[in-house]
Amino acid sequence: MEKKKEEKKDEKKEVCLLGRPGNTLKMGIVGLPNVGKSTMFNLLSKAQVPAKNVMFCTIDPNQAKVEVPDKRWEHLVELYKPKRKFPAALTIVDIAGLVKGASKNQGMGNEFLSNIQSVDGIYEVIRAFDDEDIQHFEGDVDPIRDLEIIRDELMAKDLQTIDRSLEDLEKVIKRTNDKEMKLKKEMLEKVKQMYDEKKNIRDNSDWNYKEIEWLNEYLFFTAKPIVYCINIPDEDYVRKKNHYLKKIVDWIKNNGGGKIIAFSCSFEERLGQMSPEEQQKYCEENKTESNLGKIITAGYQALDLIHYFTCGPDEVKCWTVRKGSKAPKAAGIIHTDFERGFISAEVMKYDDLNKLGSEAEVKKAGLQRNEGKNYVVCDGDIIYFKFNVSDPGKKKKDKAK
Ligand code: GDP
Repeated sequence: MEKKKEEKKDEKKEVCLLGRPGNTLKMGIVGLPNVGKSTMFNLLSKAQVPAKNVMFCTIDPNQAKVEVPDKRWEHLVELYKPKRKFPAALTIVDIAGLVKGASKNQGMGNEFLSNIQSVDGIYEVIRAFDDEDIQHFEGDVDPIRDLEIIRDELMAKDLQTIDRSLEDLEKVIKRTNDKEMKLKKEMLEKVKQMYDEKKNIRDNSDWNYKEIEWLNEYLFFTAKPIVYCINIPDEDYVRKKNHYLKKIVDWIKNNGGGKIIAFSCSFEERLGQMSPEEQQKYCEENKTESNLGKIITAGYQALDLIHYFTCGPDEVKCWTVRKGSKAPKAAGIIHTDFERGFISAEVMKYDDLNKLGSEAEVKKAGLQRNEGKNYVVCDGDIIYFKFNVSDPGKKKKDKAK
């Protein structure tokens, strides 16, 4: 009974993520036009998406798999010197700019909103740079107004879904007097009330298990985790000051909170033109650094993703799983046979390997543990799975790396 309760508690924590199962989750870049979304996407992915000073130049969503920086992985590559190496990756989608009225299909709003619906988490890009040459859709630069436009459009679109659903539910309830449907209706009314108060679904920790299941059917916008990326001018980034920033941080704090990263497209573009040696020298002299890695990591973490490693002379590879995944499920990412025929997982902690210097030393110290099917995989585990799949006429027993 206790265990069941615990399990439910664990699942509840994932209110915003359970909507889509699996681990190929995506972060979508969302914001008004001309705030730096495509530039940020290009910087993150180095993929060439047209980033011109043109409204709606990004019509189709562009996707890129970007490397999640991890010093542990770099160290493991040095240690094992494998033939192949695979870092952890995060899928990022560049979504065209939303404008006021998007929920009423202004500026192709419906299409762009449905692109946001298809991602699991949101990077919201906010413009905090003044530049008269770069037209602002609303006429002037005002980050708080922009934050409110995006919030209100996302909520307005969800409210359309809610109203339609409430109508349908009322008909069903009238016909069947179904108790469950009544509870579902109450839940939707609660969301409606929250939206009236401009509160996000993700910020309420009181949802019960059933409500979470229902919420995930809808994939509401404000249930998605969010990372706010504030695009400030180059010089502000280097001197660590921007006159919009305090107001933005206060607004976000008063509106449910969320991870906030100040970055600068123009700084990152300038840094990108330098050689690695010049970059290092410049960053040391100016006590600054690129924030792109932080943005990627924050997105990965917002989606509750972690990775474990498989290491050997052939390859060192990061495998991305959802936080809380048990060993068989994590094994299934390598191959479904590994999950089906799961026997056990031999687990080393990266920190032990780092401290002791080699796999042999970790084993000698008795720190490689044999874990069973209830083991919850931790970020940075180094794992060898043992599995056994018996098919008629074909026996396979293996220790998989
Ligand atoms: P999007 O519409 O939000 O995708 O915006 P883009 O990334 O296409 O950028 C629109 C224009 O703003 C381009 O001309 C960019 O070069 C410019 N831009 C982007 N970031 C910055 C910035 O930090 N400072 C300045 N001055 N211009 C920027």
